[in-house]
Amino acid sequence: AKKHVLVCGGAGYIGSHMARWLAERDHRVTVLDDLSTGHREAVRWGELVEADIGDADALDRVFGNARFDAVMHFCARSLVGESVADPYAYYTSNVGSTLVLLQAMRRHGVDRLVFSSTAAVFGQPQSARIDEDHPRQPINPYGASKAMVERILADAATAYGLRSVALRYFNAAGASPDGVIGESHAPETHLVPNVLRAALGTGPALKVFGDDWPTPDGTCVRDYVHVDDLADAHLRALDFLDAQAGAHAFNLGNGTGFSVREVIAAAEAVSGRAIPYSIEPRRAGDPAVLVAASDRARAALGWRPAYDRLEPIIETALRWHAAQSF
Ligand code: UDP
Repeated sequence: AKKHVLVCGGAGYIGSHMARWLAERDHRVTVLDDLSTGHREAVRWGELVEADIGDADALDRVFGNARFDAVMHFCARSLVGESVADPYAYYTSNVGSTLVLLQAMRRHGVDRLVFSSTAAVFGQPQSARIDEDHPRQPINPYGASKAMVERILADAATAYGLRSVALRYFNAAGASPDGVIGESHAPETHLVPNVLRAALGTGPALKVFGDDWPTPDGTCVRDYVHVDDLADAHLRALDFLDAQAGAHAFNLGNGTGFSVREVIAAAEAVSGRAIPYSIEPRRAGDPAVLVAASDRARAALGWRPAYDRLEPIIETALRWHAAQSF
């Protein structure tokens, strides 16, 4: 059955790809976004309600006007360094406002949620690949705020029967293959956009944060997963909740790590341009290696990332970035 989904944060990077993914599969989409970091022009699939999830009165109006089958919640502050510098802002947005949203869902009888979580809930990896049994010991307020919400979702399942799936993304990357929507943050702190902007000359030379990490080439290793593969996992998670009560969590990644140097090399191959970079000190809060074990998402959701290699992911991102520079 087709669903009406409230996509909170649907003007942002992952949320906008989600809204499109749902709409193109004949689901009905309402986007709720305060446009603090999202982009109005990224909301092309479904109607936009401009509001803050921390505004209970606004939520009562939104939930009062429509009968949503589920909420997908992408709103968050998500910069590790900023969270260390301003934890109150992170706990207020990521935990406080999420509670306001959860309470509105409860008041209005909406009992299904797919929640954006993160590999940052795990903190320093204790194993080469991180599965769902890995201890959750976040090392920064960003990761802690997401871990707190996961705990709240578990308690809400017990107390109120809320059905939820928390999806812990490793490194989201890439863009819609047609280049219509993509990743744009200001300031941009993420590796793939910064690499491509350096390649295209639309941004400064890349700063590589450390080449003395305990990894094969000395740069940090991450697991890059395409944004449409994340959207695919969310829709599967929603269907999963049709049959499953309780609070669930899955790790989402490709299971293969690439170093910063490998990302630069792949972007050079895809773009045909040399990428200027300098080696800089390590960035605070970065773990050396973060790679997912996503066997559970594969088994429970039937998820299989369509993009399992780095170059095609970067190619979609490049298409979008190239369109921005005209
Ligand atoms: N990184 C880098 N230069 C940049 C941005 C990121 O060297 O301009 C490195 C960063 O230190 C990390 C990796 O690239 O090791 C991925 O960082 P990103 O911010 O994209 O994602 P994170 O892993 O922090 O979620």
